Amino acid sequence: MKPETPDTPAEAGAEQAIPIVRPLPRRSLQARVVWGPRVVTVGGDAPVRVQSMTNTDTVDVIGTAIQVKELAHAGSEMVRITVNTPEAAQAVPAIREQLDRMNVDVPLIGDFHYNGHRLLSEYPACAEALSKYRINPGNVGKGDKRDRQFAQMIEAALRFDRPVRIGVNWGSLDQELLASLMDRNATRARPWDAKQVMYEALVTSALESARFAVELGMDPAQVIISCKVSGMQDLVSVYRELARRCEHPLHLGLTEAGMGTKGTVASAAALSVLLQEGIGDTIRVSLTPQPGEARTQEVAVALEILQSLGLRVFVPSVTACPGCGRTTSTTFQELAKQIDDWLRLQMPLWRQRYPGVEGLKVAVMGCIVNGPGESKHADIGISLPGTGEAPAAPVFIDGEKAMTLRGEGIADEFQRVVEQYIERRFGAHAEHH
Ligand code: SF4
Repeated sequence: MKPETPDTPAEAGAEQAIPIVRPLPRRSLQARVVWGPRVVTVGGDAPVRVQSMTNTDTVDVIGTAIQVKELAHAGSEMVRITVNTPEAAQAVPAIREQLDRMNVDVPLIGDFHYNGHRLLSEYPACAEALSKYRINPGNVGKGDKRDRQFAQMIEAALRFDRPVRIGVNWGSLDQELLASLMDRNATRARPWDAKQVMYEALVTSALESARFAVELGMDPAQVIISCKVSGMQDLVSVYRELARRCEHPLHLGLTEAGMGTKGTVASAAALSVLLQEGIGDTIRVSLTPQPGEARTQEVAVALEILQSLGLRVFVPSVTACPGCGRTTSTTFQELAKQIDDWLRLQMPLWRQRYPGVEGLKVAVMGCIVNGPGESKHADIGISLPGTGEAPAAPVFIDGEKAMTLRGEGIADEFQRVVEQYIERRFGAHAEHH
């Protein structure tokens, strides 16, 4: 006989409220990236920062400064440039000056490989113009030169009071360290998987270098760490371990993420898992630009990842339904795109004129099924008519139906309504919400 079952939660409603999920708080120390009197904090209670990297020849001062400006305007809070030759090192102070002349308020980070010790010592103006140095412990030098050359870079950081990033990358992992960990693994009764040895090599390389930097006098908060790999699950494994073993601020990114949709999705997947766990203080999305695609795309993706996770708010959000057979016209797709493009375009100006506007929520929906409901959840929403529905588009403002738009000019009219709403709510004479 079937046992008598008491009311199940599904029938009666659960006794306990469903927890609201939010990213866990971060628990790292806080670094200070300084240029002139300005500072960007990284780690601790600072917002998760967005950074990017130029792909111009650093020797091309104007070209590089222009790209830095574009990246900064797109939302990058730090921009890294490669410093690979004496000519590049000489160009760095000129790039900084050019940026200051153009009022581009963003710190420059120098990316060093192989000869960083020499460039930082021989070009002090370069060391001074940069706000942070990236050191790759995998290619700082071999044998007894290694520690000496690493120390030389740390000396420059101490002299100019700059933070460093110990940036390990699995494509340029310290081969001596990897070999010694493999030897040790061979002596284990139950050897680790080769992948686990690689993880350990990445983490050890970063942590040993960080410890050495601290021994040389660096404040641990000023030592940022990264261990980049190109596989999503590998990144999660390595960063969980890094976060467990140290308090240094963590720079997070999937290296060589790839192009287009693949690179975007892979980065979003990997970074989201870690950021949700409170791991990662600054992010970079390493996208390979598709032919004709702007370098700023990597910044747009980084902002979108942080905004989707609810970690930061950069631009007003537009909720649009995907469309289905109930709406065969493309009107709502066009309207959603028009509104989204317009909001983004206005942001540089609005950020100053309408403080808080980035938190605005707009909905553009295709038909009556979810249209009015979703529009009511937004600050301002429009529900367009689906196939066979009366040609009228109700507009909802702060959850209330405010008007109905009709006819050809719906898109422009809705844009005007949004603009008036923004002025009323966020303008100088805003009624406070
Ligand atoms: S709101 Fe309407 S048109 Fe949009 S996906 Fe839902 S049912 Fe389809």
